[in-house]
Amino acid sequence: MRSGSELLAEEDPALFALLEGEYERQQDTLVMVASCSIADPSVLACQGSVAVNVTAEGYPGKRYHAGCERIDGIEQLAIDRAKTAFQARYANTQPHSATSANYIVLSHLLAPGDTILGMGLRAGGHLTHGSKVSMSGQYFRSVHYGVDENGFIDYEQAARMAREFKPRLIICGATAYSRIVDFRRFREIADEVNAYLLADISHIAGLVITGLHPSPIDHAHFTTTCTHKQLYGPRGGLILLGRDHEALGPDGKHTLTDLMRRAVFPYFQGAPIINAMAAKARALAVAVTPGFKATAERIVEDARALAQALQERGYRIISGGTDNHIVLVDVAARGLTGLLAEQALEACGIIVNKNSIPGDKNPAEIASGVRLGTNTLAGRGYGPREMELCADLFHRVLSGIEVLGPREYSLSPTLQAGIRAEVRALSRRFPIPRYAAAHPEP
Ligand SMILES: *Cc1c(COP(=O)(O)O)cnc(C)c1O
Repeated sequence: MRSGSELLAEEDPALFALLEGEYERQQDTLVMVASCSIADPSVLACQGSVAVNVTAEGYPGKRYHAGCERIDGIEQLAIDRAKTAFQARYANTQPHSATSANYIVLSHLLAPGDTILGMGLRAGGHLTHGSKVSMSGQYFRSVHYGVDENGFIDYEQAARMAREFKPRLIICGATAYSRIVDFRRFREIADEVNAYLLADISHIAGLVITGLHPSPIDHAHFTTTCTHKQLYGPRGGLILLGRDHEALGPDGKHTLTDLMRRAVFPYFQGAPIINAMAAKARALAVAVTPGFKATAERIVEDARALAQALQERGYRIISGGTDNHIVLVDVAARGLTGLLAEQALEACGIIVNKNSIPGDKNPAEIASGVRLGTNTLAGRGYGPREMELCADLFHRVLSGIEVLGPREYSLSPTLQAGIRAEVRALSRRFPIPRYAAAHPEP
C-alpha cells in the first residue's frame, strides 16, 4: 500500500509541491520568528494519525459518543503529562489554541462589561489581553499597564491601575517581552484588589517546564499556554490550574476546576481535536527529557549571545538584553522601520517579524522594531557561536538597505544573492529532521 505522502504526491501534485516547497523554505532559511519552533517528527506522526477520524465530545469516561476507549486513553495521557510537566493540579488539554484558552477563561469567568487589566499591545502584550481590535477589548472594559523607560514591566503602574480600576481579572504574560515576569508580584497586586489572575505563558512555556523561568502555576488562578511555540508541539492550547484549583469561582458554588471543565465544553468549544491532543501528549513527554532541557538552555544562551552580538554592532536592544528567547531590536534608531527590515531580511532568507517597541511612533503595520527569537534555531542545534554569524548576516542586510520611503527600499541584488547563499550554507549544517529526534539526548 502506498503511504499518505505517496498518494498525495500522485493525486494532488499541486498541494504536494506546496508542502514540499514549505519544507525546503524552512530548511534553507534562518527562521528567527519568536513564536514558532520545530515539531518533532513523532509529534507530526500524532498530528497526522487516524485520531483525526473521531468525534468525542465530553471528557475521558464521560463522552457523548461511543467508541472512545482509546481516545480516552490519549486524552488522559495528555492531561497526566501536562500536570506532570507543569506540576499543575488540573489540566485541560482541549483548547484549540491559546487564543481560545484565554477566551474560555475570560468568557466564563467574567460578565460582558467587566474590567480586565492586561499588558498593552504596544508594550508587548497580546491581542487577547484586552486589545480593542479583539473580542477581549470589545466585550470587556479593558485597561492596560506597560513597561518603564528601561523596557521592564512597570509593576508600580500595574498596582496603581488595579487600585484605580478594580479589575475582576488581571492578565500577565506577554508576546514581545524579553525579561522575567514576576508572577508572585502580580498575585500580590491581584489579591490587594480581590481580582483573579491569569498568567499566559504561551511564549515561555518551555522555559517554565525546565525551570529556566519561574513558574506561575501556584501564583496565578489560571495559567494558559499554546503548545506550538516553546513546547515544540502541535498548534493548540492548554489551561492549567495550581494551588487554587479548588478555590470557589465567582458564583461562590463551583470550584475553578468545575468552572474550567464546563467553560471548555460545552460553553466555548465542541469536540476536541483528538489528533492534536495526541500530539500535545507527545510534545509534553519530550518536554521533560534531558534532551529538551538542553534545548531550553541553548534557547536562552543563543538569545543572550545574539543580543550581545547585535549590541556590539551598535544596535539598541529593548531592556538592554534578554532573559528568555526574545531579542527585541530597535531598528528606527538606525533610520529604518520594522517593515523595511522584515522585508529586506526576508529577501535574503532571514525570517523575522516587525514589532512595535515601547514608545513606538510608527503605526503597528510599519513599527520601529523587529522581534527575534531563538526557539527554531536552538531546536535545530544552532549554538551561541552561530549567533555571531546570524548577527553578522542580519547586520550586513540592514546596513545595505537604501530607504526610499516608509514602505520602499532598495537592496543590491548582489548582496541579496550573497547573503542567501551564506544563509543556505549555514542552514544545511542544521537539517530540520523529518525522521530523527529533534531533541537528541545530550
Ligand atoms: C501567541 C500567543 C497567543 C495566541 O496563541 P494562538 O494559539 O496562536 O492563538 C496568546 N497569548 C500569547 C501571549 C501569545 O504569545
